[in-house]
Amino acid sequence: MAAELPVTCTRCVLPATFPGITFDAAGVCGYCQDAATAGSVAVARQQLRARMEAVIAASRGQGAYDCIVAFSGGKDSSYTLQSLVRTYQLRCLAVTIDNGFLSEQARTNCTTVTSALGVDFLMFRPAPTFMARMYRTSVTAGGVQSPAAIKRASAICNSCISMINTLMVTFAIQHEAPLIAGGYIGGQVPKDMAVLDLNLIQQERMRAPQQERYTQLFGPAAGHFFFIRQSLLQQHPNGHVTVINPMLTVALREEEILTTIQALGWQPSQDTGRHSSNCRLNDVGIAFHYRQHGFHPYVLELAEQVRAGLMDRAEALDRVQHIPDLATLTPQLAQIGLRPDGTAAPD
Ligand SMILES: [Zn+2]
Repeated sequence: MAAELPVTCTRCVLPATFPGITFDAAGVCGYCQDAATAGSVAVARQQLRARMEAVIAASRGQGAYDCIVAFSGGKDSSYTLQSLVRTYQLRCLAVTIDNGFLSEQARTNCTTVTSALGVDFLMFRPAPTFMARMYRTSVTAGGVQSPAAIKRASAICNSCISMINTLMVTFAIQHEAPLIAGGYIGGQVPKDMAVLDLNLIQQERMRAPQQERYTQLFGPAAGHFFFIRQSLLQQHPNGHVTVINPMLTVALREEEILTTIQALGWQPSQDTGRHSSNCRLNDVGIAFHYRQHGFHPYVLELAEQVRAGLMDRAEALDRVQHIPDLATLTPQLAQIGLRPDGTAAPD
């Protein structure tokens, strides 16, 4: 008798609905079969850390700031900021993009953590009308994001991240910072994001098709958020910035992260759902993603944490099997111009 296709991988938490997944007779998925051993993951992580530390050493003291930190007030970027300041003694400018859904607690955390660390802090809030259109279109227009992007995050998150990445590069050029740091953790982005040299002109050329698509979909204001001005690019002294994601170079359990940042006065938000510690729109992104693609947008990241031994499988399963209900998110839907059933409201 043929074995029944498992609902989820018996080793990690990837479901049968995940794009391109295969299972062996024991119900172990192709991602688990291809995964490197724990030992080689640890070696690779150490190599990434050495590379990152070399880049940090070479960058210190080169600009007005050493590093622009994409700082959301959430737990991972708070941990990242303290590590850059305390462990690596970088002169950081923490930049928060207020997307209109930043929880009050996250806003407080931004101030508390940057004050405790003695870090300069900047909050930038794009116009709510633009943000509403961007988010609404991301979930109602089909195929805004590539199939590869969809595996790792919801359409709402992908659009927002793309905008934030562009803004961080802009801030880095304006403030002459050679480094941009993010708080990505394992599984959220490919490993090469631990240390990534950006050739700015080449990068803008590569991104152009997707950025033009954003402009078509989100309106002319998108040009301002998704493109870096040529004149700005040309004033850059060497045309390069380096992106670092220090958390990809360490193996940390969530409890260790929380202990460290709580000592700085950081406190968890109560209104951001289970998967975010700063954004009240995140659950809307998850609910639409599940509805449209049949899997939870955090499942790849949680599967990787389970494989790495950083999260118990039962905990990860519990997190991906509870899908937020759009009916409980009516205020957020209204703020982006959607009706309670998720369809676009008439103008
Ligand atoms: Zn698996």
